[in-house]
Amino acid sequence: MKQMRVWIFILSLTVVGSCKDDEADAKNKNFSERVFTEVTELSVEVAYETGAEPYTSSGLKQLWEVTKANLEALFEGRSQKPAIVVPMELTAMTNFNATGKQLYSTGDLKAMAKTHRKKPNSGAKGSCLILFVNGYYSENGVENKNVLGVSLTGEALVAVFKPVVESAGLTQMSKNGIEQGTIVHELGHALGLVNTGIPLKSGHQDVTNTGHCMNEECIMFWQNEQGSFMAAFTQQLGTDVKVLFDAACLKDAREF
Ligand SMILES: [Zn+2]
Ligand SMILES: [Zn+2]
Repeated sequence: MKQMRVWIFILSLTVVGSCKDDEADAKNKNFSERVFTEVTELSVEVAYETGAEPYTSSGLKQLWEVTKANLEALFEGRSQKPAIVVPMELTAMTNFNATGKQLYSTGDLKAMAKTHRKKPNSGAKGSCLILFVNGYYSENGVENKNVLGVSLTGEALVAVFKPVVESAGLTQMSKNGIEQGTIVHELGHALGLVNTGIPLKSGHQDVTNTGHCMNEECIMFWQNEQGSFMAAFTQQLGTDVKVLFDAACLKDAREF
């Protein structure tokens, strides 16, 4: 079976290997190119397992405004700028019954996407599906309790492993930040950052950690794959909505 490269957002120092897959790279490139050329409406679609509900609000604040603002920031100043559609409330997301599964492989996630993807993702309509699951990532058959989220190359598909988000933050505010940070990071991968669909405009690519940015002040920095770093990084969100990409990543997207 075709192996797929998966970008992983991990909490530990463990570096998860990625295997080279030209076909997946080409697919990702196609999705990026389409989003940055012909897409007029880019949607985030969310489906969540019972028990793995996304966090949606904190006081008066709508948490998913963070995702929306970060996606919009990538297109700022462009003549081609899709309308960004992000669900804010659980009622705008799809709930599915508990699967009873503890582990999810990339194959499982792809199969689930077939069932749960409702929004069109072709032509002028772009859509990335985010699955929230109440379990852990199965990495080559082995449970990895440190993986917060994955982006499946070329599939416009992201998964968030809710128990990992829940255990990574000490406070609700911290968990909110970690979850939104994970989503922004994985959507960045799905859209082709860094140099995996969106070409570089400056030398900020981390050549050791594929798909990542060298700037530690950027959400695409690889070390955001460590929980403590990520928790600290997203602390800046506090009660605000902030752009988490650095200038170099934004420039790549804006000038693509
Ligand atoms: Zn990553
Ligand atoms: Zn960056």
